[in-house]
Amino acid sequence: MTGVTSDDILDRFRRIGALLDGHFRLTSGLHSPGYMQSALVLQYPREAEACGAAIAAQVGYLAAQVVLSPALGGIVIGHEVGRALGVRAIFAERQDGRLALRRGFTMTAGERVLVVEDVVTTGGSTRETIDVARAAGAEVVGAAAIVDRSGGHQELGVPFHALATIALPTYQPDICPLCAAGIPVVKPGSRA
Ligand SMILES: [Zn+2]
Repeated sequence: MTGVTSDDILDRFRRIGALLDGHFRLTSGLHSPGYMQSALVLQYPREAEACGAAIAAQVGYLAAQVVLSPALGGIVIGHEVGRALGVRAIFAERQDGRLALRRGFTMTAGERVLVVEDVVTTGGSTRETIDVARAAGAEVVGAAAIVDRSGGHQELGVPFHALATIALPTYQPDICPLCAAGIPVVKPGSRA
């Protein structure tokens, strides 16, 4: 998957049913013309491995010494990026609502950390994961994801690489243009 394009990745998501086009009511209650569930791609170890290798090919120059991912969504792809880079892959998880390192995971002062996620939407959890690494004294050298669904609008303050970029807008139901057009709204998964 060297030289993989954004369209290659999105086609792969669509083929597996991990990216649906239509009119969806998301868990948040917001409406969107697209629904993405990366776990449906990552359930196939060969797909996960290929995505990890493709990310590793883009971020090798950062010379990361450890991959840090937010649980749960980032764990599988973080593991595969770590495998491809030949470095440790650890994860942060929520404890009392805040991301933290648990299970004895540590980072040493100045250790070069790459933060890896499956999908970046607003960048909020990526930023939070970056903060976990910095609080541990590590140096965050970059961040990466399979898909950037902010349309390229997140601002992380570190080099960021995504295999694919897609803008998937969300709307409050009362101002949703798809509702206004009379298109029936679907709960994701109900037609899969
Ligand atoms: Zn709608």
